[in-house]
Amino acid sequence: MKVLKFGGTSVGSAQRMKDVAKLICDGQQKIVVLSAMSGTTNALIEISDYLYKKNSSGAMELINSLEQKYMLVCDELFASSTAQTKGKAFIKASFDYMRSLSKSIFTTFEEKNIIAQGELISTNLFTFYLEETGVDACLLPALDYMRIDKNAEPDMAYIADHLKDILDNQPKHNIYITQGFICKNFYGETDNLQRGGSDYTASIIGSAIESEEIQIWTDIDGMHNNDPRIVENTQPIPYLNFEEAAELAYFGAKILHPTCILPAKLHNIPVRLLNTLDPSAPGTLISNDIKHGKIEAVAAKDGIASIKIKSGRMLLAYGFLRKVFEIFETYKTSIDMITTSEVGVSVSIDNLKHLDDIVDDLKKFGTVTVEKDMVIICVVGDLPHEHIGFQAKVVSALKDIPIRMISYGGSNYNISFLIKAEDKARALRALSKHLFEA
Ligand code: ASP
Ligand code: MG
Repeated sequence: MKVLKFGGTSVGSAQRMKDVAKLICDGQQKIVVLSAMSGTTNALIEISDYLYKKNSSGAMELINSLEQKYMLVCDELFASSTAQTKGKAFIKASFDYMRSLSKSIFTTFEEKNIIAQGELISTNLFTFYLEETGVDACLLPALDYMRIDKNAEPDMAYIADHLKDILDNQPKHNIYITQGFICKNFYGETDNLQRGGSDYTASIIGSAIESEEIQIWTDIDGMHNNDPRIVENTQPIPYLNFEEAAELAYFGAKILHPTCILPAKLHNIPVRLLNTLDPSAPGTLISNDIKHGKIEAVAAKDGIASIKIKSGRMLLAYGFLRKVFEIFETYKTSIDMITTSEVGVSVSIDNLKHLDDIVDDLKKFGTVTVEKDMVIICVVGDLPHEHIGFQAKVVSALKDIPIRMISYGGSNYNISFLIKAEDKARALRALSKHLFEA
């Protein structure tokens, strides 16, 4: 059984939901994972924020306007008054619940329950719609089987057990609808898999049921070999292996959430990226297969800061890097790139929340220089060192761009460069020209 995930924009209006319904009704049995309608999760977070700050009139205004939006979706989505009444009753209950919280103590418990409403609403409305149109569909509530453990990692054994149990112990249906993103936590409370987590849900489900394929449906025909917003004539990449896809997802290709890769890779389940606006386009197939020696794509990650620590103490010393890394660990800040010399080390980070504290602590070990507004440019492909010449090709494409850091050799799948944000567009275009247009 395949698992198909549709993101927020793909279910972003009544019409888009109808389009998805058409697309999935091909007679094949499947599990369909849905995100909240686009914009909803952000709105719910804002509502939570008002409730947390005890600004109930601020919260009410947002709650009422979001509810109104959903009532209009119902008007457009359902043909019969029975289905409309059912849909609207569901929405009213959900928003009444939010309204009721203006009087109670507001903790992360309430917050997580509010945030879960987006996926609960989209999947229920969609299931009502399928029922109304006579499709053999049924809702699989994610909160009945999706669970994270104490470390907020998916509890794969629990999920596989419970999901199989639910599927085995009810009459068979053609289409199962379930919520992306939301789950129960170790304490049995409603929680979630972090922003953008619906892709992760699809991959976890696919792995749990040993699916033949996981499909991630968005609004673009697969992963492109460069950023289509900046570079003209980018091309969809037909095949990627999991390592390459992980590098691209992590370093900027917004189309796929990086967490989605690991479960699928471990269970050897291909992931196909497809386009709801052009369903017959081949998209991108991600699997464990490798196309040897091929540069596949370029991606960029914004909002990076570089930190250079220069120290005479590093000369011939051991344990220096450990001390430096411990500081980043203390502030739960992960390092993306790292380069070293005998007298210094440079790292890049994308989470700048604790930058000032980190810099303060690093000053114990050396002279610290910070540069913000940097970008990581990442060239991805099967690029083992035996394959001579491609490093030179990549570097020479960037011959006119000032490069702050270069990293290669950490894996066989990427070369990364740290440059200033103002040089990003120029760098991406130069790379496309030299690597893909020749
Ligand atoms: N609705 C959630 C979010 O906006 C999950 C997702 O869309 O993947 O983050
Ligand atoms: Mg998404």
